[in-house]
Amino acid sequence: MFSWLVRYARWLHTGWPAGLVEKTPFAAEDGATNVAGLYIAGDLTGIPLLKFSSDTGARAVRTILADPAFGSRERPDGKDAPLDLVILGAGVAGMAAALEAQKHGLRFEIIEAVEPFSTIVNFPKRKPIYTYPTGMTPAGDLQFTSRSSVKEGLVEELQEIAALRGVRPRLARCENPSSTVVYCPFETHDDVAGRRIPNRRPIHEGDVLGPLLRGWNVATSSAIVPRAALARVGGFDERLPAAHDYDLWLCLARAGFRFAAVPDALVIRHDHGEARISADLEARSEGTIARLDDKWGGLVREQLGQRGYERWRALCRGYVHSMRFARIRSAMMRGDRAAAWGHCRALARGLPGSGRYLVRGVALTLLGWRGYRTVARLRAPREFISDA
Ligand SMILES: Cc1cc2nc3c(=O)[nH]c(=O)nc-3n(C[C@H](O)[C@H](O)[C@H](O)COP(=O)(O)OP(=O)(O)OC[C@H]3O[C@@H](n4cnc5c(N)ncnc54)[C@H](O)[C@@H]3O)c2cc1C
Repeated sequence: MFSWLVRYARWLHTGWPAGLVEKTPFAAEDGATNVAGLYIAGDLTGIPLLKFSSDTGARAVRTILADPAFGSRERPDGKDAPLDLVILGAGVAGMAAALEAQKHGLRFEIIEAVEPFSTIVNFPKRKPIYTYPTGMTPAGDLQFTSRSSVKEGLVEELQEIAALRGVRPRLARCENPSSTVVYCPFETHDDVAGRRIPNRRPIHEGDVLGPLLRGWNVATSSAIVPRAALARVGGFDERLPAAHDYDLWLCLARAGFRFAAVPDALVIRHDHGEARISADLEARSEGTIARLDDKWGGLVREQLGQRGYERWRALCRGYVHSMRFARIRSAMMRGDRAAAWGHCRALARGLPGSGRYLVRGVALTLLGWRGYRTVARLRAPREFISDA
């Protein structure tokens, strides 16, 4: 009964979004933020309602107009003169701000990624619209009449007012080029041992060169990188036999690209027990370490000193040991105990660094899967550079 409830709760996705409170930007009541000259309005203020969106959009422009510094700005003439205001997003808030800016004769541009009012255009057909609070009249010219009680009427009303006032957004996506790599943590499903391993890697954001040099890594399957950024750093290094992902993150971080994280583990990585590097483990691993050292060893030494460099080298070696352990698992899956012992001997040659992998490898080879499952409940070896 209880397990049925747990399965039902999982099916309902009660775990998403992970029970965490979404962060909203800091904003004062008038939309001012902690970045001078940047104002926010609409849903970003934390109240996702049409009337508040319209109200905060218009009020943000009024706040700007009331700013003495804005009033005393230089106002050169000519078509190349700078804009007074750039509005990002032609939703209700952006359009309300545009109407207010137009009314006060500001030079402005409104930039929209998809189409004007795209959120509302994508509401379900015939969706009833609730314009709460009923007694509220939003500031500015973007108002909602009884026509707006259903989605189609709302869209018509909004599009009409934009057309009447001649407010046309420029279609473009605004992007912050400095936050380029967006990633999330992942959960591992060890399908051999039949257990879930929650994410243990810490989250780092912004400039992540330091953590990367200390051995932190991001799984490729849980990251998104724009093509232009990949092109700028030359993509994956084909001369590396493995660890292409780790090297790529280092290249991006060194080039000044910043990382941003979604805190929820949205990716599940399945570990079916197969070795991840197919052939010639030693050669590929040694080649990888040598090439990584060639490219990054100097920078690691410069940033972290000789001891930090040695720790980094040890972590790289840990990668070889983890691959060797993966070999033991796949050999045991095939029932090839002799091959598993061979890999254990190779691990023993790597002592003391290979100790924890050796213990697990010997337990698996000696005791079989039952023993392995017991040992596997101990903390999994720290994973370093992944080929995922
Ligand atoms: C399904 C649904 C039903 C709802 N029902 C109601 C209701 O009945 N009553 C009610 O009061 N509220 C309702 N809401 C909430 C209401 O739609 C929002 O409060 C309102 O649309 C927010 O306006 P906004 O301008 O802040 O954001 P949005 O309307 O979301 O506009 C943001 C605009 O910015 C654009 N944009 C985003 N990123 C970029 C970028 N990088 N570059 C350029 N442009 C970008 C988007 O394409 C979009 O057009 C509903 C919302 C949803 C999703």
